Amino acid sequence: MAFDVVSLGELLIDFTPVGVSENGNPVFERNPGGGPANFACAVAKLGGKAAFIGKVGNDNFGRALREFIGQCGVDTSGLLLSDEFKTTLAFVHLDASGDRSFSFYRKNGADTMLRTEEVDLSLLDGCPYFFCSSVMMAEGESRRTSFDLMRAARDRGCTVYFDPNLRMNLWESPDEVKRVNLEAIPLADIVKISEEEIEFLTGDPDYKRAARAMKEKYGLSAILVTLGAKGCFALINGEELELDACPVKAVDTTAAGDSFNGGFLYALCRTGKGLADCSAGELRSILKFANTVGGLTTTKKGAICALPSLEEVEQMLEQG
Ligand code: ADP
Repeated sequence: MAFDVVSLGELLIDFTPVGVSENGNPVFERNPGGGPANFACAVAKLGGKAAFIGKVGNDNFGRALREFIGQCGVDTSGLLLSDEFKTTLAFVHLDASGDRSFSFYRKNGADTMLRTEEVDLSLLDGCPYFFCSSVMMAEGESRRTSFDLMRAARDRGCTVYFDPNLRMNLWESPDEVKRVNLEAIPLADIVKISEEEIEFLTGDPDYKRAARAMKEKYGLSAILVTLGAKGCFALINGEELELDACPVKAVDTTAAGDSFNGGFLYALCRTGKGLADCSAGELRSILKFANTVGGLTTTKKGAICALPSLEEVEQMLEQG
């Protein structure tokens, strides 16, 4: 079966704080996490065909993760269960003002140990879009695997969609983050980046100027800059498009970028056309759809649990 999208990346447990126990100790909830997994679930929840490539431990956490994304409709035949390495864990901490920080337990984490030789590349056959992010490039075997799969996807004619999704504390140094991301971007066709990320990678605080320069320098077909509550800015084909965010009351922005990615590729697949054949009007509708998927995800707490269905997105779009 050919998939609409194949996503490579980390799938891990996010332990999020949910209060205090009777003994006065913090209590954490076991949530599925990982941007590329959120992305695949977003596509599947909208009704698209999504497959996930990655590795988790053959432990309780890993098996629960596989079951969870499978129940979301994602094909998990490319998700390996390792007897050697454990599922990666992340703990979310909230400070007094509600700001989040992460502690990662990822040294030799199963996701980072995925090797190219273990991947069933036939999943890419006939698939129009391959998705990956730089979190898999931060450490371990999975850096080489990510680059290998970007090349393998290109060789098979897939359009490569790359999300730098910078998580600075997973890397050895800021210089390394920059170097590796700038090596990956030329292997992509479409790059989705946030305002802060493009400033970090280019040194230019003007995201429009930075996006124009990046598209030109790396020969990209499209660059999508997401701007949180301000919406998005995109350079696609010869068009410059700017769209306001969906008017929602945001309660938790976790996975907004991942679901924007899912919404974008789902809507693009639905046109039955490649990006280069879409009119300016069609591109605007695709971006509006992506903004709506991203916006609706912020109205509920959590990541995968907060992803909207197609009906919810269409209802929101009808309301204008
Ligand atoms: P990332 O999670 O990658 O940093 P953003 O925070 O820019 O990405 O969010 C991605 C998209 O989700 C935005 O372009 C926008 O469409 C939507 N979004 C994010 N935050 C909000 C918000 N507060 N209100 C409405 N839409 C939002």
